[in-house]
Amino acid sequence: MRVLVVEDEEHLADAVARGLSAEGFEAVVVHNGLDGLARAREGPFDAVVLDILLPGMNGYQVCRTLREEGIWTPILMLTAKDGEYDEAEALDTGADDFLSKPFSFVVLVARLRAITRRRADARPDPLSVGDLHLDPATRECRRGSEAVTLSPREFSLLETLMRHAGDVVSKPELLDRVWGSEFGGDPNVVEVYVGYLRKKIDRPFQRHDIQTVRGVGYRLIAAG
Ligand code: CA
Repeated sequence: MRVLVVEDEEHLADAVARGLSAEGFEAVVVHNGLDGLARAREGPFDAVVLDILLPGMNGYQVCRTLREEGIWTPILMLTAKDGEYDEAEALDTGADDFLSKPFSFVVLVARLRAITRRRADARPDPLSVGDLHLDPATRECRRGSEAVTLSPREFSLLETLMRHAGDVVSKPELLDRVWGSEFGGDPNVVEVYVGYLRKKIDRPFQRHDIQTVRGVGYRLIAAG
């Protein structure tokens, strides 16, 4: 496991890094928020230990910025006990967990293992095809920087096409995946929903990414 430690108290940062190394982790240490953000962007890390009070940019801002950029590395935030910054706020910014200082090293390691495991289990990877982005975890869809609102069915249809980007997905397969194998209605519902999706993700952007392959099904590509 590779862990980024963002902590301006150098003694504490070094102690954490040494401890993590002893546990078999690879630790990378930086001492301010801006370096933390830059390193986290470069990645890849399995987790970030992020202090809140940091020079340059505080931990909340680092965390929020990473999440806004779609970087979902698990973050364990270090909160001070003085109450100035609270734990709820840490979670609000997109942190996975928090730990109050002073903490025991055993607990730090246990929390790190827990958040990386949880993330790996729970979080489906965001999907991108060209400038079309879909995040199954947050249910967000974007074309470039523009948010697109999709109904649950549209979302599921687009997710299926994006997971098979470049390949033709047949109508029966789409029916099965999006409407379920017991769907007894009109199979043309697929066509109808592909039409809805085109109105949301293609037409307003002068795109033709969802292609009809006659007699077979549909294919999503970054057609531009
Ligand atoms: Ca600090």
